[in-house]
Amino acid sequence: MNDISKPPVVNFLANPEKDHFIDGQWKPSLSGERVDSFNPANGRVLAKLARGTKDDVDVAVAAARRAFEGPWSRFTPHQRQALLIKVHDLIEKNYDELALLESLDMGAPVARTAGVKNWMLQVIMYFASQTMNCNGQTIQNSLPGNFTTMTIQAPVGVVGGIIPWNGPLMSQWWVVGAALATGCTAVMKPAEDASLTVLRTAELLIEAGVPPGVVNVVTGLGSEAGAALASHPGVDRIAFTGSTQTGREIIKASAGNMKRLQLELGGKSPDIVFADADLDKAVPGAAMAVFSNTGQVCYAGTRLFVERSIHEAFVERLVAFGKTLKVGDPLDPTVQLGPLISQRQLDRVMSYVSIGGKEGAQLASGGGRVGGALAGGYFIEPTIFSNVSNSMTIAREEIFGPVISVIPFDTADEALRLANDTEYGLGGAVWTRSVNTMTKMMHGIKAGTVWVNCYGVVDPAVGFGGYKQSGYGWKGGPQHVDGFLYQKSVCINGD
Ligand code: NAP
Ligand code: MG
Repeated sequence: MNDISKPPVVNFLANPEKDHFIDGQWKPSLSGERVDSFNPANGRVLAKLARGTKDDVDVAVAAARRAFEGPWSRFTPHQRQALLIKVHDLIEKNYDELALLESLDMGAPVARTAGVKNWMLQVIMYFASQTMNCNGQTIQNSLPGNFTTMTIQAPVGVVGGIIPWNGPLMSQWWVVGAALATGCTAVMKPAEDASLTVLRTAELLIEAGVPPGVVNVVTGLGSEAGAALASHPGVDRIAFTGSTQTGREIIKASAGNMKRLQLELGGKSPDIVFADADLDKAVPGAAMAVFSNTGQVCYAGTRLFVERSIHEAFVERLVAFGKTLKVGDPLDPTVQLGPLISQRQLDRVMSYVSIGGKEGAQLASGGGRVGGALAGGYFIEPTIFSNVSNSMTIAREEIFGPVISVIPFDTADEALRLANDTEYGLGGAVWTRSVNTMTKMMHGIKAGTVWVNCYGVVDPAVGFGGYKQSGYGWKGGPQHVDGFLYQKSVCINGD
């Protein structure tokens, strides 16, 4: 067990009242109000966050604007790169504290938070490399006369970063890293259920030398602070990660000043296992494609299509694998599944389990809350439904919990048709030894990422995005950085 009585986490939580972090300083809400934030492993209040309103968002956006137009705008690419490397080193040094704080705040097991360390540091380093990549082009033209034509790029300005609770320690970097790389500034609005690592990171950024006002954090409710940020006339771009439903609200709210948008939304990703696959890899791969982070992953492979000839045997092995997973206290290093984030999320997932049964899916394992010593938290067993049809509610709606729907299929064409019969298009995977099958699926699956004989592997230099209602914009890679830049064409008359 990790000892949480040791500093520095305990220092950070010594005063559970946490203010906004604006212009390099802690600032209480102008209203004086707070919202409780819970530890999902025991249901107890962990922190009392400042409840941000439009007024607080105004203050944060003004600070971000001043910083954008101030000395930050004169940082050279090399200076921004050197700063990002310092940020990387400081985050690495403080990683254990941040990881533990994340586990307490949103319930991810310490094995998981420790496991994403290298990847997160790689993301920061990727953005450090991209400071040198905000380039336009000199383009030859066919204009009559003596003209030189080129494009140049410039930071878009103030970016609003609205992120969900399922992994803020990591997901904040898609906004903060890109803002630091390009010379933008940011106002972050983390989810009310998990804001602490974003607040602590903002404090560390100041220690690393990031100028005050470049990264600000306003906490509180999505419907208040989030909505105020999304509609704020002083914000140039919104980088949003969250549900498709909220994504629609963001689109509407952003219309006033035509904000640039990046929307990384929900999913119901297909994971397709053919009978010729290496099942020793496919079984744990397909299980962890959903059970990781207790199913609270946007690209979780929740619709598991299995070729009918191996359906029964595969479900048996999946159930056996599921039983080897330990559900429990996120601070126990041997635990693989922590709690769900909240009572609300627990109720939601349990209601889908009950709908699955009512619509005729077979409960192959799990389906219950975990009681005993864990009864105070929001724990649920890893759950597997077999013989699901793609038209059932559990195969259509995003559950965001550890629930797998196994759907049998007979032919590759049928698998592809069913895989694409969804309003989402975030990820998808195929397990097979056949190059023909692999190629057909790789081209045929309508999703932003396709994995072959693996699941959930993302390199920050490649990135990922969505088809259909899984959103638009791209996370990672040069396209991500482009989203934080305006392009300008320049035409020079040389005569
Ligand atoms: P959510 O309810 O959409 O919330 C996401 C963020 O938006 C939170 O900070 C939330 O604040 C805020 N928000 C809520 N209503 C708002 C409004 N009207 N205006 C502005 N902001 C608002 O999503 P969630 O339930 O936290 O997260 C789970 C969802 O995120 C799933 O659908 C999942 O697939 C998706 N996700 C997608 C990706 C991806 O990269 N595609 C990655 C991770 C998660 P409060 O929470 O404080 O209300
Ligand atoms: Mg919490």
